[in-house]
Amino acid sequence: MDDTRGVIFDIQHFSLHDGPGVRSTVFFKGCPLSCLWCANPESQRHKAELLYFTSLCTRCGHCVEQCPQDALVLDGTGIRLDRRRCVGCGACVDLCPQNARTLSGKTMTVSEIAEEVRQHWRIFMQSGGGVTFGGGEVLAQPAFLGALLRHLHDEVGFHTCIDTSGYAPWPTLEALLPHIDLILLDLKHMDGALHAGATGKPNDWILHNARTLGRRGFPVVVRLPLIPDFNDTESNLDALGTFMNEAGLPSIEVLPYHDFGVSKYEALGKSYQIHSTSKPRLDRAKDILNRYGLDVSVSRE
Ligand code: SF4
Ligand code: SF4
Repeated sequence: MDDTRGVIFDIQHFSLHDGPGVRSTVFFKGCPLSCLWCANPESQRHKAELLYFTSLCTRCGHCVEQCPQDALVLDGTGIRLDRRRCVGCGACVDLCPQNARTLSGKTMTVSEIAEEVRQHWRIFMQSGGGVTFGGGEVLAQPAFLGALLRHLHDEVGFHTCIDTSGYAPWPTLEALLPHIDLILLDLKHMDGALHAGATGKPNDWILHNARTLGRRGFPVVVRLPLIPDFNDTESNLDALGTFMNEAGLPSIEVLPYHDFGVSKYEALGKSYQIHSTSKPRLDRAKDILNRYGLDVSVSRE
């Protein structure tokens, strides 16, 4: 039994896009970055939070009556949530007859996650798959991640992968490397100021970690979430290709951006402004990266 606890917001099985083979992906909750285009805005805060889908709500008012914190008010547009009062108890989620409310985030132990993931061992073995830890940001919960990796990689023998922004001091990442088989590493922008403007954080740690992993020959696939008019410019793609060549990082996966997450922004009471990547812009980005002799693939996020 390992009672080390962490906060996650989902576990998905039969994933085909988070590393080789068929995988189970554990999504950590909480991220130090706040990317304008984040497809999982419910992953950004560390604590559990409520999503409210207005289109499903019939304004019956049951949730307002039952909220122990008086955090809900019924007005002309639907249910308004006072996030300062809400403690994330989930009472309003359980009683909603329309499933208009969802609570994102729960605390689980290493043993609980391992038990769920281990049920899929046969398909991992048959497909060459394993377990991926994504988020949110996995490196923001290093003790929890380390305990999961040591158990599932070292003791059980699963292939392990982390999907990360790379935003952590090098020693935090370095300590985990013996228990990781593959890193999927986002390089969102090569310019530090533009990176900070769109994500809330500079890219110094990220570039240092990418460079160090490349020089050590650690298995890394760079991931580029392709955001129109942000990082699909020729100057950024040239800088990225040059950096990867110098660092010895040969593989990049381009993630055409989609706006499927818009409804989640509305459900969290947030606004959203990014538009999907068009096919011509995707093709142009691939052409530029191919000039650098990189192994370029295209996936979906
Ligand atoms: S219980 Fe559900 S359907 Fe009824 S008002 Fe609350 S959110 Fe809307
Ligand atoms: S999660 Fe709990 S505290 Fe928050 S609005 Fe729902 S019932 Fe109220």
